[in-house]
Amino acid sequence: MFGWTGKLLRVDLSTEKISEEVIPEEILHQFIGGKGIGTYYLFKEVPPRIDPLGPLNRFYLVTGPLQGTKIPITGRCAAVSKSPLTQLYIDSQIGGHLGPELKRAGYDMLIIQGKAGKPVWINISPDERAINDATQLWGKTTHETELALRKAEPKTRVISTGPAGEKLVRFACLTHNFFRNFGRGGLGTVFGSKQLKAVAIRGDKRQISTPDSRKELELVKQLSHRAKKAKERGHSLHFHGTSWLVPYANETGQFPTHNFQTTYFEGHEKISAEQLEASVDNQTRRTPCELCVISCAWTIKKEFPWAPTEKTGEIAMPEYESLGMIGGNLGIDDPQTIIQVNHFCNTIGLDVISTGNVIGLLMEVTQRGLLPKDLQPLGIQFGDKEGLVNLLHKIVAREGIGDILANGTRMFAEQLGPEVEAIAIHGKGLEVPAWDPRGKRGLGLSYVTAAAGASHLRGWPRTTKPPNDKAITVLNSLIEEQNLKILKDSLVICHFTHSISPKFSIKDCMMVLETVTGISASMELVTQAAERIWLLARLFNIREYDNPPREYDILPPRFMQEPIPDGPTKGYTAFINQQDFNESLTELYKRRGCDPDGRPTQEVLKKLRLTALLKEN
Ligand code: SF4
Repeated sequence: MFGWTGKLLRVDLSTEKISEEVIPEEILHQFIGGKGIGTYYLFKEVPPRIDPLGPLNRFYLVTGPLQGTKIPITGRCAAVSKSPLTQLYIDSQIGGHLGPELKRAGYDMLIIQGKAGKPVWINISPDERAINDATQLWGKTTHETELALRKAEPKTRVISTGPAGEKLVRFACLTHNFFRNFGRGGLGTVFGSKQLKAVAIRGDKRQISTPDSRKELELVKQLSHRAKKAKERGHSLHFHGTSWLVPYANETGQFPTHNFQTTYFEGHEKISAEQLEASVDNQTRRTPCELCVISCAWTIKKEFPWAPTEKTGEIAMPEYESLGMIGGNLGIDDPQTIIQVNHFCNTIGLDVISTGNVIGLLMEVTQRGLLPKDLQPLGIQFGDKEGLVNLLHKIVAREGIGDILANGTRMFAEQLGPEVEAIAIHGKGLEVPAWDPRGKRGLGLSYVTAAAGASHLRGWPRTTKPPNDKAITVLNSLIEEQNLKILKDSLVICHFTHSISPKFSIKDCMMVLETVTGISASMELVTQAAERIWLLARLFNIREYDNPPREYDILPPRFMQEPIPDGPTKGYTAFINQQDFNESLTELYKRRGCDPDGRPTQEVLKKLRLTALLKEN
């Protein structure tokens, strides 16, 4: 076998048993790796309607056939589980070094199940596979934990949950390499619920072999050349990371501002990439993932009083999502505050998107006077920097109003009643990221049909137009981009391969799969793999629903009913009208082999070879 190792490591925290298993070759061919393989095992092994914080939930850390080879832009891996935030399917992707290291340790996947009786950490090294006592690490930040576990062997790769995950804040993330996160859906909370503080991985020097090393080298050269070409043409990602998107999102009316009340932030120029860099005296350095030829990430060399050296690994430059959700969405136009809050989220283990969203809701609730009398003194205004930092500590400690906010936007709104639910910005319980769908035609369809909930990383329609025409006009490109993203997340290769020249395409997915595994990867094979994975993630959710699936595929009322009040996309809603939404959703279901209620038909299940799996479960 080439590309894959064909093996998984299973760690049962309840029985303390650690075992190796074979992954059937047929399953690797059908689901590829990463998101695909994780989705297959989640569906097969995790029973419907279990408590995501209970011992029956499982966590899948999954590499793809590219990890451990020489192919660039692949220093990544996927995680899949049931989300404590949405109670549904969640998958997430992370950069750094974790994926290649797991592969070098000999595994395509690590499965963690059960629940430990006391705090533990898992060690995977050339000498041992062990569950170790983590009592001394419990309560530590992700940075302190990583520094402690890498002390003896700096090349050990660590992923850990912070105090937020330990306290079961429902949007806690998992952090690796000090600022790389499995951000969405509460994967850090899953670790916390299992009393699992961290996983440390150190592989050996093995190189994953491919069928033809000459072809592998050609592919390395080709992808490197395409990245170089994009850089020479001045693609901003290569120079500023994602922070270059701040002016773009404002100019196109997609920037979240004051809990998505509008999409143009007056202070956006103060938090642009250039201002951000100037605010740290340009003392930054590139900190790429393993084998990356794009290098989109920067850390700060400067020291800050709020980041003591002995406790801090790296301080990250905020990416676009942080600038949107902590900046515009909370009315903060001060780069230093955003850097500090971003760092706090990385160390304490909070998803910055959900954090900015749930606090944005509290700010709007305060603005509108919708807080109940007993909570009124705890309200906070847009732009309140000191109040924001204090509130973060309360969320992590689950103290006072922080205890309610720690359950996420949907539960916070439900607790306060219908008036607040009407202004809560989430999809299926997952907080909406920093792109307002009222500024881009068809983006709302991407949000409502992603099994994870409202995520910006599940394939977008290829258009720069606002919703000034029917969404059905961009449906072909949306479906193609959804498939491409699923394939990238399964292979696993970075999303930002869209910024090489020419862009990474489905044809490239075929080419890399064939080069590293030697299997004959036709367009039909990879497209069907993407369709299979999309549908299986949806089927996981359908088992959780009380009503027809269509009733859950909805946008927040604000995006459907409130036209943007000002800025470049003034007057737009996410769809021309309700009929436009209904028609385009029905058509998307049809093209995905689902009936008008959003349930897959027997024909598509048979075509995608899912019938047997469904019968078993
Ligand atoms: S482009 Fe950025 S996120 Fe992607 S692999 Fe490179 S450094 Fe990592």
